[in-house]
Amino acid sequence: MNENEAMDLLRRFVGMHTENGNEKIVADEIKSIFDAAGIDSKVLTLDEDPKRANLVAEVGHGEPVLGITGHMDTVSAQQDGWERDPFSLVEEGDMLYGRGVTDMKAGLAAMVAAMVNLKKHEGQMHGTVRFLATAGEEVGMPGATALQAQGYMKGVEALLVGEPSGYNIVYATKGELNLNIAMKGKAAHSSTPAAGINAVEHLLEFLGTISQRIKGAAEGKSNPDLGETVFNIDVIRGGQQVNAIPESASAEINMRIIPEFDNKAILAILDDEVARFNASHKATVSYTVGMDIVPAIGPKDARLLNIVKSVGERHLKAQGKAAEIPVFGVSGGTDGSVLLLDSPKDTAYVMFGPGNDTMHCVNESLPKSMFLDFLGIYDEIIDEYMGIGK
Ligand SMILES: [Zn+2]
Repeated sequence: MNENEAMDLLRRFVGMHTENGNEKIVADEIKSIFDAAGIDSKVLTLDEDPKRANLVAEVGHGEPVLGITGHMDTVSAQQDGWERDPFSLVEEGDMLYGRGVTDMKAGLAAMVAAMVNLKKHEGQMHGTVRFLATAGEEVGMPGATALQAQGYMKGVEALLVGEPSGYNIVYATKGELNLNIAMKGKAAHSSTPAAGINAVEHLLEFLGTISQRIKGAAEGKSNPDLGETVFNIDVIRGGQQVNAIPESASAEINMRIIPEFDNKAILAILDDEVARFNASHKATVSYTVGMDIVPAIGPKDARLLNIVKSVGERHLKAQGKAAEIPVFGVSGGTDGSVLLLDSPKDTAYVMFGPGNDTMHCVNESLPKSMFLDFLGIYDEIIDEYMGIGK
């Protein structure tokens, strides 16, 4: 696939509405490209919605198995401030604009192009490249969850995630835990508070308790790759009007997780505090878990990481730029957090894909030159990993 064909593919991807769903149209498009190239692929519909699907494809045979993955959904484009149609790829100078152009339809298109290009050299490959295109990365990761459960990560010794890192390598991502806390009290007129149970006041007390206990437990725990636990109370709701005792109140908490203080340990503290609170108060507290993903850390000396670094630095040098590519851990999870759940500890995890810091923003953008550069980068990474030309 040449640069013009890859640009056309990116244009078609951006034109497809896959805001938190509807990914099957993208999967079908990829399948038709792979069919034409002679690549075996499968569109796997998600149980809960026939418009949602993953796609799996392979080129080559035997070991090693390199996994390459990207998601087909985007976040919503229903925000004020878009200066261009978010669903048509707009080119202005070196910039491309559109929903998902950075996160991550450019990375996805570059991986599709790499598979098509690889097929032509299949006879020279030593191993297999398995491409996993997922649904629903942005909310709940149902696509990655299904692929992992269906065994598509079996045998994968290294996973390349095409999320937007730009010219940076990410090999570790924190987990994430979202909690919804609900407090139930009893309504009454504010002149007779004793007749009611104030849900807002009880919620504030409970939030204070768990904030103190979780932050206390997190203290002194740190991960060399990921740093420390993050705990934020981000949303609080409750009450109707100033002269009424509120019957209910709720809060949302977002946490970023390290292995030293994991999701289970936090939920155990929460269960303990919920039981303690309900036994000693008239109000009743309960909680539900939203996003619940564990941290993922790949080895820093993995063969894939070294290849990605050397190929990336060669490309930076060719642009006349400083050639050192930084390698670090970040807060945000990826599909890798789910895909790697049962993988051996030494499985490589590398996030490296075209993109800038406009992901999830209005007027999401990407330099066209970076997209085109990553076409070559992915080809070279895969060729080197598969021993092509050796
Ligand atoms: Zn993404």
